[in-house]
Amino acid sequence: MTLTADLAATTALDLGPARALSCRECGHRTALAAEFACPHCFGPLEVAYEFTGITRDSIEAGPKSIWRYRHLLPVPGDVQSHPNTEPGLTRLIEADRLAAALGVRKLWVKDDTGNPTHSFKDRVVAVALAAARELGFTVLCCPSTGNLANAVAAAAARAGWDSVVLIPSSLEKAKILTTAVYGGTLLAVDGTYDDVNRLATELAADHEDWAFVNVNVRPYYAEGSKTLGYEVAEQLGWRLPEQIVVPVASGSQLTKVDKGFTEFATLGLVEPTPYRVFGAQATGCSPVAKAFEDGHDVVTPVRPDTIARSLAIGNPADGPYVLDVVRRTGGAIGHVSDEEVVEGIRLLARTEGVFAETAGGVTVATAKKLLEAGALDPDAETVLLITGDGLKTLDAVTDRVGPTATVPSTSKAVREALAQHG
Ligand SMILES: *Cc1c(COP(=O)(O)O)cnc(C)c1O
Ligand SMILES: [Zn+2]
Repeated sequence: MTLTADLAATTALDLGPARALSCRECGHRTALAAEFACPHCFGPLEVAYEFTGITRDSIEAGPKSIWRYRHLLPVPGDVQSHPNTEPGLTRLIEADRLAAALGVRKLWVKDDTGNPTHSFKDRVVAVALAAARELGFTVLCCPSTGNLANAVAAAAARAGWDSVVLIPSSLEKAKILTTAVYGGTLLAVDGTYDDVNRLATELAADHEDWAFVNVNVRPYYAEGSKTLGYEVAEQLGWRLPEQIVVPVASGSQLTKVDKGFTEFATLGLVEPTPYRVFGAQATGCSPVAKAFEDGHDVVTPVRPDTIARSLAIGNPADGPYVLDVVRRTGGAIGHVSDEEVVEGIRLLARTEGVFAETAGGVTVATAKKLLEAGALDPDAETVLLITGDGLKTLDAVTDRVGPTATVPSTSKAVREALAQHG
């Protein structure tokens, strides 16, 4: 598919290598703008690019953040000159102890708890903010299950923008506080995430200077997830993993990790070696896993009921595309109970010293289940995406972990306790 510059030339926008928006369903191309649905078929729009002069050296010479990939993202050439959160380049750790516990030969954990607001959402929001500024917006907004709220409120604060964040009022207290602290307007809505999302779409239509990162600027926002794929490949020493396990909420992240791998291979930055993409959901919100199991192309919406609230999207916009990627690459989608999620959190913490939020528990526990089911190959090199910090969902482990013993302040009591538990 060759791109002409005509469409981009019709606007004075500088969105770097981005040239047009292209419909994922019918392929119709439209000019770069704050649009998210195809004018012909209402299919989702995606950014189409023309990449030039990208080498391993040029990337390695870049900043230690997602902006090292700025020439692969829909952001202006001078993106670094505006205040933003500079997420990315988080640790990829060799998880030998977790590998042993799971019975896998070689395993890595991509630890995205290290981002500025402790989840992978800082990646997508940083890209959305940069694109939104160029598109003429002045207020940063979102409906959120929590992590996005943190990231939007923080990025807006850093940029000096107003923010409007809508959350379900049932959200974990920690996620409410960690959004409110950045200032901005925070509306707690008595409803589900899907209700909040619908309200955001209505508000976006009414306020032309409000960028709802995952609604009216969604095509740009979504591209931020590619950086997870880029980093995994770069940090593995410029090669693709054989298997990767990705948590699924709307499904955007999973499809963009695949897009990132494909772009790197197409640009000759890595060998085009085969890889398999696996999805992870909580049983209490597993519409994509269900469609996968049933062999369906259509994802039937569900009403979420799980402790993994950051993944609790009952009507996932990218569900069908997740199914495409997983089937095309020979992966699978698994799901795990809330009990298994907590076990997954604890296993990762005690083997690797990484405390993940419930979404991380979903990824670890699903990997375990997919290994037991023979879907994941224990001999293939595998990466797990750990996308959020455990301090965000302390409730999940509150009654499960605590002091080994509580003792009087005498050395005798301490020695006895150590003898008993050591
Ligand atoms: C949002 C989120 C995801 C997945 O997001 P998608 O909507 O599927 O792109 C994964 N993990 C965490 C912690 C999240 O907050
Ligand atoms: Zn279309």
